[in-house]
Amino acid sequence: MRILLANDDGYLAPGLHALYAGLRRLGEVTVVAPEQNASAASNALTLNRPLSVLSADNGFLYVNGTPSDCVHIALTGLLDFRPDLVVSGVNNGANLGDDTIYSGTVAAATEGYLFGLPALAVSLVQKGWAHLDTAVDLAVRVAQQVAEQPPQSPVLFNLNVPNLPRDQLRGLQVTRLGKRHPSQPVVMQRNPRNEPVYWIGSAGDALDDQPGTDFHAIAQGYAALTPLQLDLTHYRLLEDCRKRFAALGPG
Ligand code: MN
Repeated sequence: MRILLANDDGYLAPGLHALYAGLRRLGEVTVVAPEQNASAASNALTLNRPLSVLSADNGFLYVNGTPSDCVHIALTGLLDFRPDLVVSGVNNGANLGDDTIYSGTVAAATEGYLFGLPALAVSLVQKGWAHLDTAVDLAVRVAQQVAEQPPQSPVLFNLNVPNLPRDQLRGLQVTRLGKRHPSQPVVMQRNPRNEPVYWIGSAGDALDDQPGTDFHAIAQGYAALTPLQLDLTHYRLLEDCRKRFAALGPG
């Protein structure tokens, strides 16, 4: 099995190194990761400058770009094979509910999925890497399952694992995304020239954390595995919109 591994915390991140070691049990792993922390980079591609790929002493490749750049370059120009699986992580912090829109971790996996490959994003819920080994173990088992029974069509999995010792993790639940309250307001400060500068505020707390959601699962001590899709069409509103805008049709 050949795996492409990326992340958004950068090629030096402990989560990447631990997941690499875990995935090596399944086969050949190629790492292409951002040079710097690119958390919350979303699906951005760098179009306004060229990108360099350099090799670290341990063989990890790193790119002065975004998580999506890394996977895009790997799949379209770097690798001379098509990987069986694209994995991203382990991220330093949760990617639950609406976080998935902003997440660079999810974005790296998404780039693989867009190229028709099965993909898995892995996040450790609390920052700080406590019980990282639990997340790695579970991610490897999910990857192995996907490898042994390849899905009929490409899948994009978002896995979040609570920071618990292995024997305290209650198991894995397949979930849907919950929802967060809007973010905290920006924090305004003054720079040394007394000009206002703004820090983006913290993510909101859970708004929809009903049973069945990723938020609920992790709060109960389970890992949450959510299959994602990318079609943003609001199907329920299609008919209403067609009526609403009928008068603006041809003519
Ligand atoms: Mn990150």
